[in-house]
Amino acid sequence: MFAQHLLALSGFAAAILFIFGLKRMSSPVTALSGIVVAGIGMVVALGASFLVVFDAAEPIRPHLAVNLVLALVALALGGGWAWLRGKKVEMTAMPQMVALYNGMGGGAAAAVAAVELSARGASSAMILAVTAAGALIGSISLTGSVVAWAKLDGRIRKPFRFEGQRIVNGALFLVTVLLGIALVVFFDTPALPLLAVLFFLGALAFGVMMTLPIGGADMPVVISLYNAFTGLAVGLEGFALQNPALMIAGMVVGSAGTLLTVLMAKAMNRSLTNVLFSNFGDAAVAGTDAAHGEMKSADASDAAIAMRYAASVIIIPGYGLAVAQAQQKLYEFVKLLQAAGVDVKFAIHPVAGRMPGHMNVLLAEAGVPYDIIYDMEDINADFANTDVALVIGANDVVNPAARTDKSSPIYGMPILNADQAHQVYVVKRGQGKGYSGVENLLFFQENCNMVYGDAQAELTRMVQAVKDLGA
Ligand code: NDP
Repeated sequence: MFAQHLLALSGFAAAILFIFGLKRMSSPVTALSGIVVAGIGMVVALGASFLVVFDAAEPIRPHLAVNLVLALVALALGGGWAWLRGKKVEMTAMPQMVALYNGMGGGAAAAVAAVELSARGASSAMILAVTAAGALIGSISLTGSVVAWAKLDGRIRKPFRFEGQRIVNGALFLVTVLLGIALVVFFDTPALPLLAVLFFLGALAFGVMMTLPIGGADMPVVISLYNAFTGLAVGLEGFALQNPALMIAGMVVGSAGTLLTVLMAKAMNRSLTNVLFSNFGDAAVAGTDAAHGEMKSADASDAAIAMRYAASVIIIPGYGLAVAQAQQKLYEFVKLLQAAGVDVKFAIHPVAGRMPGHMNVLLAEAGVPYDIIYDMEDINADFANTDVALVIGANDVVNPAARTDKSSPIYGMPILNADQAHQVYVVKRGQGKGYSGVENLLFFQENCNMVYGDAQAELTRMVQAVKDLGA
């Protein structure tokens, strides 16, 4: 009884810590402490889960010691692996890692459901239905996230599509849902094990089939959607187990994931249906006829000198900056410009990089102060009065085709108005297209020059050029 009260209390404490942590994560200034607070919430929730074991009913009690050892071994293995991977992971590989962890959450919810379905004995139909719903969503999230990981990691390089795919996927989903209903209806019959196996196989297969046709460029949105799925699955299993910490954590993850999915889709001016069911992101289908003229190249030192004598510079970082790990060099360059009296600001597009906040984290890592980092809506009007826009390793997020070319797949996506600056320099390695595979009209503009090369190497040259000018 005491354990039950303590469990409820710890669930409540964990929930408050999760929500408070999440709130602090909304600003880069407090984000780190937010992560620590939410982490403490997770420790509290985990500790509370052990109370359930001590307070266990008769069937579990004889296996208490074995269960405890198994739980501790699982914690040590999972925690140890995550700690090692987390320390080593590159900033560019972060979305893949998030996909994997998220999939594991969905898988864990599905596994809890499987145990519940096999061990619960006579449960109410409502609890069974909730358990089955959690199992379905968790399983889809598990295999879907693994496919998303493989795509982001370059292990699956092409979207897998065939004639009538949507009908096949629809049928598979329907059959799986019917199997789930059969599970609830025939719960007390010998058909249960077979139904359960078929149901789980159907749900796992659907996760794979649903994700395979989606293009790589849409994977971050898909991961965020599966994140919401995992939260929902965990919440449902929490309800089935009557575990408040699981319920609340699931709801927090589910709603945060849903909001993020909606915001990302909005930032790309896409509907979720368009993300899930269109062929966007397949470089082969994307293109524009509106690119005219030629790209003019410039030397890094010329670009640097132009910026040194400008009054204002706005820097637009993108995925290429993360690839080149050039954030420190960039900040060194910025400090030199500032020392020469140049007004320098950073402009961040909501989907620059490969996940939301990617650029903010990168710049924070280099020590760039937050007060010179601006969100798109706060800085877009400034470009027209700015001397130089420096685009580093960014592409799609500054493509004016989104504004002007109705035939472009990115038409309607809000972009940073870098093209409106008096002069634009773009640092990238070659004439390659952006993530969406669309030609960038900015590069052909009269006021734009390309500085070809790796961002790290070109910034090193820029730093040297400004230093060579002396004070
Ligand atoms: P892009 O992928 O559009 O462009 C990055 C550019 O960086 C490339 O054109 C590449 O050109 C260049 N680059 C790569 N490596 C280097 C290097 N070492 N040095 C210099 N340049 C380099 O990135 P953006 O950040 O502009 O746009 C993000 C894209 O991701 C958008 O399409 C967005 O819709 C998509 N996306 C983002 C999400 C998010 O949450 N952040 C969610 C979903 C989608 P080159 O090869 O010539 O060097």
